[in-house]
Formats: sequence, C-alpha cells, structure tokens
Amino acid sequence: MSSNDAFPVLPQWLTAEKKNVPVKLRPFGTAAEDLAVSFRMARRPELISKLLVLCALTADDEAIDQQFLLDLPVSMRVCALMTLAAVSDSSPFSWQVQCSAAACGQQNEFDLTAEQITSLAAEQLGKEILSTVIDGVRAELRRPTGRDQMCWLTQSAATLGEAMVQSVLVSPPLDALLADGQSFDSIALKIDEAMDAFDPLLSLHVNVLCPQCGASTEVSPDLAGAALERLSRAQRVAIGDVHRLASHYHWSESEIIRLPQWRRESYLEMIEAGA
Ligand SMILES: [Zn+2]
Repeated sequence: MSSNDAFPVLPQWLTAEKKNVPVKLRPFGTAAEDLAVSFRMARRPELISKLLVLCALTADDEAIDQQFLLDLPVSMRVCALMTLAAVSDSSPFSWQVQCSAAACGQQNEFDLTAEQITSLAAEQLGKEILSTVIDGVRAELRRPTGRDQMCWLTQSAATLGEAMVQSVLVSPPLDALLADGQSFDSIALKIDEAMDAFDPLLSLHVNVLCPQCGASTEVSPDLAGAALERLSRAQRVAIGDVHRLASHYHWSESEIIRLPQWRRESYLEMIEAGA
C-alpha cells in the first residue's frame, strides 16, 4: 500500500473498540457502482457519505460501516474526501482569488495539497473535547460530525443557528447559558471563536499575497467543493473510457470498469494507435 491511498490517520478516541476502521482508499472510478453516483442530485453531506462508503476500506479490504463514517467529524470527512480525490489526481488543489486592493483587482491563484489540509486538521485532533470558558462559564465543546450536518439539513433558516450550537455544545446545556443572561448571538460567537483553533478546517481562512501589489486577501476556499469537482471529473473520465472500450471491444460496463488501470490504459492506447 502506498501512502497516497491511505485514509487519513484517525485519533484513538474515534477508533477505540471499533472493528472496521478505515485504513485505505481505493481509487474512485474503478468499480461499477462509482458510475452510478450522481454528483448533481445529492446533497453534499449525503454525497460525501456515499463516496466514502464506496471507497474507504479496512486493512483487509472490508467495507466500512456507514454509521461510523457519519459519526466522523466534518473536518475528517473533508480530509478523507480530499485524499480520495488526490488518489485519482495528486496535483495540488487550486482556487482563484481576486486581489482585494481596489486599485489592483488582479486574479491570483493559490494551491493547497491534501497533505497540507490533513496535517492542519491533525494538529488538535488528539483531543476529543475542548474545554473553554464562555463569558465566565466553563463549557465543553465537540467537533460537528457528518450526522450533525444531516440533522442541520432538516432545520429551517430560523432554527438552524440554534441547532448548530446545540450540536457542538456538550455542556452546560444551552438553556443554562441563556439563563445566565448571555444572548444567543454572543454565545454563538464565542463558540465560533473557540472552534476556529480546535477544528480549523470548519472555517478555514487563507491569506493570499498578491504578487502584483503585495496586498493580502483573505479567502475561505471550498475544500469539499474542490474535491467533489475532481471526483466528478474522475467519473466522467471513467465513463469516457467505458464508452471507447465498449464501442471498440464490445465488453460490458462492469467488465471494463474492473480492468486494472494499466490494462485499461493499454487498450485505450491501442485504440488511439488504430490497432
Ligand atoms: Zn494586488
């Protein structure tokens, strides 16, 4: 197993007493089920769950329980998704950013690799719970999970903010903090500030220096979006390969998709060469 298809290392508090722990990722676009994933229709947390269920494996190539993957912190799921996208294409993820200096406005680009994102997420990952103080009251926070995101999808705009705070606030209960005289907005802001360091991928900010004028522009790259775009592209490439090989050799979709990558490429090269 090469390191570039390793599932991001999970902390002990997540894996203790669990049997099926993800250790590796198979390349997306190499099984018939991969072609059925609809990147347009699914809601994002569902889509991420679907992709991880398909491609995450134990050391013995066994599938991972969907519930386990849902209970991973959102940031771990993003790391796993970016690592999966990097299995198909290991080039850095890049984003466009327009320089914020009014007189400049130059279009710049910045890059991040899946390894950089994963090591940033890993810094605080040894701790399951963050102890902090919210306006003089001791509080404990946890990272939001994929399951929390699924729950947020069912909320209305009016109740979403409170649902998000309830998800990460382990203690004291939100009602106790409110009874203490703090406003909800003030509590939510304090929690956001504490979570910035505890789970930095949740609201990752990058300062991009403009090579033209030297001004700094703060951006929040859409990490999962970049990974999903790359995986969607891997799916289109796989479908294109199936089309060309099926047209030429008249094999079935599942026969073609199961071919090891090197054989798939060899057949495609022979078609290209007019063999
Ligand atoms: Zn500039």
